[in-house]
Amino acid sequence: MTGPQRRPIIGGNWKMNTTLSEAVELAGALAASLPPERWTEVVVFPPFTNLEAVRESLGESRIGLGGQDVFWEERGAFTGEVSAEMLLSVGCKHVICGHSERRHVIGESSEIVNRKVRSALEGELKVILAIGETEVERHGGKTESVVSDQLRRSLEDIPAEIMRDVVIAYEPVWAIGTGVTATPEQAQAAHAFVRLVLVEMYDDAVAEATRIQYGGSVTATNAPALLGCPDVDGALVGGASLKPQEFAAIVGAQERILNGG
Ligand code: PEP
Repeated sequence: MTGPQRRPIIGGNWKMNTTLSEAVELAGALAASLPPERWTEVVVFPPFTNLEAVRESLGESRIGLGGQDVFWEERGAFTGEVSAEMLLSVGCKHVICGHSERRHVIGESSEIVNRKVRSALEGELKVILAIGETEVERHGGKTESVVSDQLRRSLEDIPAEIMRDVVIAYEPVWAIGTGVTATPEQAQAAHAFVRLVLVEMYDDAVAEATRIQYGGSVTATNAPALLGCPDVDGALVGGASLKPQEFAAIVGAQERILNGG
């Protein structure tokens, strides 16, 4: 299965950036900048506090809305947390689970990520599951074992028929927010490996159909080479997603690849 059958997905992870007015301005600028005729799925992940305002500002732009995280319980005494139902109620269709900043700054294990993935999918959200190795793990030759372990644990008890609602984001930790990007060869090798693990966990059909985004210092400059890799089905973009022209150029690069040039 080649690119066009796996619809590419470009996500903009705004992280802990944007006040309410900044978020509304950014969403409006994005809506005005993206190529209107596009096959690429585009989703933005603003902070929780800005979700509803961003949804309004995105208008009819066909840019999807997602949460940056979700808690596994439906409601109750969980101060500071947000449930899948709450995200749905403000117009989210997607949520990121297991972002490296949550794994490494907040200390989330793959078991916690798995609880979040399960409750998000039960709550009818589509999940962007982020995985990736640290620099020490890569230099220690552990990239494949770390990626395989994160995938298997984070997707425990997720049946094959639900995997159509899961996108994997391969994001090497050493490339996130550092300005250092995986080479296209490193990205392609890791994505092909993720697909092999999905064959072992599920079957060929699931592995071929699952979209795998690359994340880690993606810019308009490096996007064409990364997005042109056969097993790369889009990107999860952090820093560059806060710059509307740059983000639109990344989406434009994806569209050009789909159109054969
Ligand atoms: C991210 O937040 O998922 C990310 C990849 O960030 P950046 O593009 O800034 O490296």
